[in-house]
Amino acid sequence: MYLITLPLSLLLSASLTYFLQSFIPSEDAVRSDYRFPFRIPWRSTVMAASTTPDVMSTIVSLAKRRGFVFQSSEIYGGLNSCWDYGPLGVELKRNVKEAWWRSMVHGRRDIVGLDASILMHPSVWQASGHLSGFTDPLVDCKNCKERFRADHLENLKTCPKCGGELTEVRKFNLMFKTFMGPVEDESATVYMRPETAQGIFVNFLNVQQAARLKPPFGIAQIGKSFRNEITPGNFTYRTREFEQMEMEYFVPVADDAQWYDYWKNARHAWYLSLGIKANKLRLREHAREELAHYAKACCDVEYEFPFGWSELEGIANRADFDLKQHSEHSGKSLAYFDEETKQHYFPYVIEPAAGADRATLAFLVDSYAVEGEGKEARTVLRLHPALAPIKVAVLPLVKRDGMPEIAEKIYADLLKRSVRSFYDHASSIGRRYARQDEAGTPFCITVDGQTVQDDTVTIRERDSRLQYRVAAESVATIITDKLKEATQ
Ligand code: ATP
Repeated sequence: MYLITLPLSLLLSASLTYFLQSFIPSEDAVRSDYRFPFRIPWRSTVMAASTTPDVMSTIVSLAKRRGFVFQSSEIYGGLNSCWDYGPLGVELKRNVKEAWWRSMVHGRRDIVGLDASILMHPSVWQASGHLSGFTDPLVDCKNCKERFRADHLENLKTCPKCGGELTEVRKFNLMFKTFMGPVEDESATVYMRPETAQGIFVNFLNVQQAARLKPPFGIAQIGKSFRNEITPGNFTYRTREFEQMEMEYFVPVADDAQWYDYWKNARHAWYLSLGIKANKLRLREHAREELAHYAKACCDVEYEFPFGWSELEGIANRADFDLKQHSEHSGKSLAYFDEETKQHYFPYVIEPAAGADRATLAFLVDSYAVEGEGKEARTVLRLHPALAPIKVAVLPLVKRDGMPEIAEKIYADLLKRSVRSFYDHASSIGRRYARQDEAGTPFCITVDGQTVQDDTVTIRERDSRLQYRVAAESVATIITDKLKEATQ
């Protein structure tokens, strides 16, 4: 037995070490606030080295153990910066995206949705400036071959790792290239979109006319984007394939400042409404020299991760840059015709651009808590009920005496109401509660000996650990009402 378990445990500990190392960034690999000429550096690295590995490694291992996030292609040694969302993670991320869509589209009369294709005409990227300007500055060490973001280094002459000589700074375009059709030559080159926004701009008139919209109005989109980041890292925070939630809000030129303020506040409030701690969230207005050449103003929603304050979302006043650029490059005017004034004009654009993966990570990190001591100690994800992957767990105390049958009935009733539920009859009730706390499940329903006698069940609330009895036949309605109340 020992002979079998020893190599196995060595193997497991080696793969765990590899797994954890893969998200701990090298010293330079921290963040990229810099995209020349889209971004101007405003600060260097922000990693709180002493706290990062502990908290983050605990969250990363919880994420793996409980099925939130796995490393992509793990059995082949993993693919750097690529992650797969497991059964709990996919629900959490879907809930984040649905909460965004509810607040940006379904709950409003002035915003509609779009789902544009990832591959677009190459001229789009010429017009948007991505072909020439979506670059990071890069240097290589001639000795150890390590690669660095030049804007993350203080000394551009010597390698911070081995002291070797560094190459000249080169511009590195972050767009992934691929080929359309069977011939792999220049004329067949297309790009994986680095942002979803351009699909909205080029469809501006299609959407405006089809939906008969009048500024101010918005077009929202959720979808994958790709950036060949030089220094991905911090788990799912910075990856090469990620999902964005972007909305372009087209406004009359004179109203831009008012709508910019409106969206800054609305987006900040959205994170708070879903439970993010107020002291961990801030709005950071960009200084003038940080602004992209076309932007009139920009502000980031930042969250204080264990690795430092980092961007979750950017809200920018992009003026009329995009509509004008696409009009010029395509030869088709994207100007809006105002029926009242009988004039064409280019509306200004206010853009709240968020990342679904970053928001999901922030909700995960923010909800994580270890409470109590000794026997009372527990790990809990205090996720907002709207985001919790599982809303309710149904737990028969034992697998006999009619309890499973009653529990099954309640479980079926919840599923019928489309309440994401989970049935668990394995191990002690304490362990089952602990498993649900760790998964962030807000409610547990326990069927016990008393249920068989008086038709009542126990509801246990995750955060307060409060337990109370209700009639078995009304428990599904009670839970549904509680969930509705929490998400209003
Ligand atoms: P950063 O400065 O962190 O690279 P950015 O300012 O370039 O981000 P935007 O172009 O404004 O990012 O994109 C909008 C949002 O998309 C970001 O706020 C972020 O949530 C998300 N995002 C951008 N790049 C990545 C990435 N590499 N991995 C995960 N999410 C990303």
